[in-house]
Amino acid sequence: MRQGIDHLAATLTAVRGPSAGVSPEAAAKAVVDVDLDRPLGDVGDALAEMSRLWLDDTVWFHEPGYAAHLNCPVAIPALLAEVFVSAVNPSLDTFDQSVGGTFVERHIVDWTAGRIGFGPGADGIFTSGGTQSNLQGLLLARDHALAAGARSADLRIVASADGHFSVQKAARLLGLGEGAVVTVATDGDRRMDVGALGRALATVADAGHHPMAVVATAGTTDFGAIDPLPEIAALCEGYGAWLHVDAAYGGGLLVSPTHRHRLHGIDRADSVTVDFHKTWFQPVSASALVVRDGRHLGHVTWHADYLNPHDAAHPNQVDKSIQTTRRFDALKLWMTLRVMGPDAIGGYVDHVVALAAEVGAVLGANPDVELAATPQLSTIVFRPAGLDEAQADALLPRIRATLYERGRAMVAATRVDGRRWLKLTLLNPLATTDDVLAVTGEVLDVAAELRQAVAR
Ligand SMILES: *Cc1c(COP(=O)(O)O)cnc(C)c1O
Repeated sequence: MRQGIDHLAATLTAVRGPSAGVSPEAAAKAVVDVDLDRPLGDVGDALAEMSRLWLDDTVWFHEPGYAAHLNCPVAIPALLAEVFVSAVNPSLDTFDQSVGGTFVERHIVDWTAGRIGFGPGADGIFTSGGTQSNLQGLLLARDHALAAGARSADLRIVASADGHFSVQKAARLLGLGEGAVVTVATDGDRRMDVGALGRALATVADAGHHPMAVVATAGTTDFGAIDPLPEIAALCEGYGAWLHVDAAYGGGLLVSPTHRHRLHGIDRADSVTVDFHKTWFQPVSASALVVRDGRHLGHVTWHADYLNPHDAAHPNQVDKSIQTTRRFDALKLWMTLRVMGPDAIGGYVDHVVALAAEVGAVLGANPDVELAATPQLSTIVFRPAGLDEAQADALLPRIRATLYERGRAMVAATRVDGRRWLKLTLLNPLATTDDVLAVTGEVLDVAAELRQAVAR
């Protein structure tokens, strides 16, 4: 372990940018050449090989030039906790496998529920990520509707067009099919259009179908838009629809000292997804599904004689989870809260929100840049100005590839209404406005180079 820590520290000292620009072909070749039946038999040799195959070429999220996806640099107390999570290796399914861990997880879940504004009846469970949290939230909504007498074929899920694709995947996995998902248009701020939601719910009801759930997104993946939660909650109450709030991205606002009000109305949700491995700076995996009424978690309970028989005297978490063996991920957030406190995490969130606003303002005043929207959370969707769609299709992927090869900056890509854009996702609390403007500056430089090369 000490050798490993030294190796990691030495590697970090030598990092010079977010990427080393290795190609998929080169990365694959070196790995597949390893004969897994012939061990090296030595930790130092294995570490050296690991570096050659992966670590030397990996992507670094703590580098200020990294501005691509929703990956975060990690809070060090969480990393420390991770060592204990793996070294002790408890499974959180029953008390007799985790002992105090059961209560650490429960306390963290209760605390999160309190931040959401749920009352004492709330409960929840840690999951592997937002995809699983959304799946479980919709599973509870489905079984709640079925228990109330709805027919499976009539169930519909209503989500905004900018909602996360895991909603469609969940519909598939739940046996409803992605055809059961009704998408609602967004408004000018790319939030779910409440008028359109009202019409969609009316159409579902008029057809004799049941709006089993509305999925509101608190922080859409591309635009960071927060759907109008109070208005959506009121419509859900009117139609008897379960309200699931996907706060995988925006959940960090729960601890923000200055932006918490933007989640106003989240306490009216039936279930909420929070990804701690995004805006809470936790190592993957760390997510939770939190429900306003803990009794709904009973929809996933199954009694196994060897684990949680009906007469089990001990508290257990397996009753609330779709997993059995389950990591003690809660310890990471626990240690982060105990060492740094929630305001420190919230301060990081505030920093990246301010960063996006500042950079967005500078880019908005730059005639060489086209912005798709004013930044709302910590993403910026932009591209070099003056491109028609054919030019954008040709140029933008090459800009990204060139940046990756050069290794100083990484940006993401997306499509908005069919048009191609570049995207920055800012999640580095150490990055400054100048750091991010260096990234966009490099984008513009590379764009100019590539366009000149074409013109020549
Ligand atoms: C990232 C994300 C998810 C999926 O979460 P994972 O942890 O990647 O499974 C779901 N919804 C939104 C809005 C997200 O940004």
